[in-house]
Amino acid sequence: MKLTVVGYWHGYPESGEATSGYLLEEEDYKILLDCGSGVLSSLQAYCSITDLDAVVLSHYHHDHQADIGAYQYARLINKGMGTNMKEATIYGHQDDEQAFSKLEYKGVIKAKAYDDHKSLQIGPFLFTFFKTKHPVPCYAMKIESKGKTFVYTADSSYFPELAEFAAEADLLVAECSGYKGDQSAQYGHMTSEDVGKLANISKSKKLVLSHLPHYGNHSQLVNEVQEQYSGDVTLAFTGLLLNM
Ligand SMILES: [Zn+2]
Ligand SMILES: [Zn+2]
Repeated sequence: MKLTVVGYWHGYPESGEATSGYLLEEEDYKILLDCGSGVLSSLQAYCSITDLDAVVLSHYHHDHQADIGAYQYARLINKGMGTNMKEATIYGHQDDEQAFSKLEYKGVIKAKAYDDHKSLQIGPFLFTFFKTKHPVPCYAMKIESKGKTFVYTADSSYFPELAEFAAEADLLVAECSGYKGDQSAQYGHMTSEDVGKLANISKSKKLVLSHLPHYGNHSQLVNEVQEQYSGDVTLAFTGLLLNM
């Protein structure tokens, strides 16, 4: 499988960029993981909007789903223009039924619920969901295909079970919203110190730091992670391509 970072900012996008969004591909199947502010614009450098098979949302905070409205309009307008489109489904959790009910749209997008009790096959990918520690219900995802495992933490503070969930991941994309010593946990987020611990305990083979803060020097995050984790660490950037 192939992962492209479409957006990686915490909270709001910096100029010309986007908050959380990751394009996951295997053969012709394309899934967008989260759809934050600016994602729909940035995505088009890598994939046509009408070529997406599915969008999977970790939770309903703006920085993970703000562009869903734009995606719905894009599908509707392209249908009106007679564009040849794939069928599209948005997957979300139903812990917030009101937010879930807004995903399905005018016959151009279906919505399906996932839950953490059973794995879900989406195209060539087997998804397993795991509830994180965050101010609103949010799910980390383990995605398996062709013997490779990719884990996306979504938003969460650190807790030991998250490391168990991420065990032996070939690729771990972890949110890293703060620097060592920041009080990120009280907002349901992880610091570089937390992510270092997570990557070390989970024995993840490769780590990407994402959901990055709007202050400080991001290279410091890498140094702080490396105090605990000796594997390969990369900072997310727009267009970062990861092959598994
Ligand atoms: Zn959040
Ligand atoms: Zn977030």
